Amino acid sequence: MRHSLFVASGNKASCPRKELEVSEVTMKKNLTRRSFIRNGAYASLAAGLSATLGCGSGSKGNGGTSYSVTKAVVIGSGFGGSVAALRLGEAGISTALIERGKYWAYTDENSFPTLASGFAGDKRTTWLSDFDANTGQIPVERYTGMLERIPGDTTYGVVGAGLGGGSLVYGGVLLQPKQEIFEQVFPHISYAEMDAVYYPRVLNMVSGGPIPDDVLATDSYSAKRAFIDNATAAGMDVVKSHVGFDWDVIRQEVTGAITPFASVGDYVYSCNSNAKNTLDKNYISMALATGNVEVHTLHNVITITERFDGSYRVYCDVLNEDGSVAYEHVINCQYVFMAAGSINTTKLLLKADALRDLRGLNSQVGRNWGGNGDELTARMGVSSHSLGAVQGGPASIAAFDLNNAIKSVGFMHSPANQGFPYPTQLQMGMCVPDALGSISYSLATDQAYINWPLAANANSRQAIMSSLDKITAQSGGTSLNSDALGGLAIWHPLGGVTMNEACDGDTGEIYGQPNMFVVDGAAMPGSTAGANPSLTIAANAERMMENIIPQIL
Ligand SMILES: Cc1cc2nc3c(=O)[nH]c(=O)nc-3n(C[C@H](O)[C@H](O)[C@H](O)COP(=O)(O)OP(=O)(O)OC[C@H]3O[C@@H](n4cnc5c(N)ncnc54)[C@H](O)[C@@H]3O)c2cc1C
Repeated sequence: MRHSLFVASGNKASCPRKELEVSEVTMKKNLTRRSFIRNGAYASLAAGLSATLGCGSGSKGNGGTSYSVTKAVVIGSGFGGSVAALRLGEAGISTALIERGKYWAYTDENSFPTLASGFAGDKRTTWLSDFDANTGQIPVERYTGMLERIPGDTTYGVVGAGLGGGSLVYGGVLLQPKQEIFEQVFPHISYAEMDAVYYPRVLNMVSGGPIPDDVLATDSYSAKRAFIDNATAAGMDVVKSHVGFDWDVIRQEVTGAITPFASVGDYVYSCNSNAKNTLDKNYISMALATGNVEVHTLHNVITITERFDGSYRVYCDVLNEDGSVAYEHVINCQYVFMAAGSINTTKLLLKADALRDLRGLNSQVGRNWGGNGDELTARMGVSSHSLGAVQGGPASIAAFDLNNAIKSVGFMHSPANQGFPYPTQLQMGMCVPDALGSISYSLATDQAYINWPLAANANSRQAIMSSLDKITAQSGGTSLNSDALGGLAIWHPLGGVTMNEACDGDTGEIYGQPNMFVVDGAAMPGSTAGANPSLTIAANAERMMENIIPQIL
């Protein structure tokens, strides 16, 4: 079988659309990630992606507009978009996967920014801003970097940018929610079906499994072992979560065979030992291998218009790596899959509405938004255990307190080497928010804005801190909330186009906008049930695509 990969990226004038023949790849529709990697197909596609997507980037273009036609456009290549692209490609539907950011190929130990380089002003950390996305204070050169910072009234959000979306910057946690909490948040979705079909389907593609015992036993993971002991003694349900990392690579790190990155706490911003199973290595490569999917990186969608016949037109600025516009690419299509992430999907829809580019958008878009009930917490001055010289990642141990008198709480231990004055453990607390907020959009600034009622969520904070106190009682030290850590930051934005409010609960089709589907975190009702969201977003996208494909074939 011959596969044809069309990619347009960077400067139109110096690099017209280019065809790469990937003839050595023989793909089966039901190929799993493991067999895909084993047969070498990923490696050859990665080489092809790398060679092709880099073309023309970095230089100024001559402007102008290019046009193309396809059946489906997927906007955004994170957990929702990459699932949608693969399933559309497998169904034989010609699809353009549009991503505003770069393809971040692994080449060597300086392929990606690190925590340290970020603090030194590495432009690769940040999406088109004069200050870094992490602290908001370090001056950086404007660049199409990995993390975007989005402002809000009581908080701010950070989201991924680049091929693979949030998988480039996430901590790797693929945590399945507890059934009790899931059923509160998603009463219309069968947990049994998610558990039996969709969660395993995603894990089979992305997960490297839970932390193996031999790795957990090493010095780099003393802090994790301490967390397990303390949370277990506090009566919590402790779970070794699946993670999107390759433990064989991390094992080489801890034995000294290769330079350590993840195992010394450098596991966000991708990972320079190449241990992270980012989505370009699995879902997106497999989507390309179907021969029906084109990937367009450095394509920033500006707006979407509905045409007189009900089809759609997607307008993209094709960017150079410094964010300047090389040219415009306009794509006509019948179906649009919104997967730009909770905030940016909502932003694009509110913008199209403000520009009167969409005819039927419903008034629920922008509402029912939440930050997953997150509260980053610390226990400072832990005395029960030695936490070791470094805290190895990725994050991989969860603890659920289902007996909290206020509401159920989940914690994810977050290994950190942040230079605290005393031995400190960080853990992200998560629960179902008390009250939801919204996303608004300003045409004047072309900016999305988070409206988050912090005071109305006081119960959530109290629930998380009371559960944390139970662990602190075992570990020693002091419980600290996010105020003590510099203020609330949202790493898990969810909602804005939520199921059964703004879109159909089974297909994600937006009420009032036929053939436009939401398949990402925007469809979640402000929470993924006390667990980190990526696994539930991807599993829900799998569920929706199974409902959508027969409808559009
Ligand atoms: C630092 C950090 C750590 C995290 N750790 C974890 C973790 O360990 N486990 C976990 O479950 N979750 C984690 N998350 C959250 C997780 O990354 C998100 O929940 C998840 O990626 C959301 O998936 P999505 O498909 O909704 O959107 P995303 O994965 O964010 O994908 C959206 C994509 O759309 C693209 N896009 C946006 N606007 C446009 C546009 N106008 N045109 C074209 N493309 C566009 C973006 O560049 C991005 O690639 C973390 C997040 C952060 C920031």
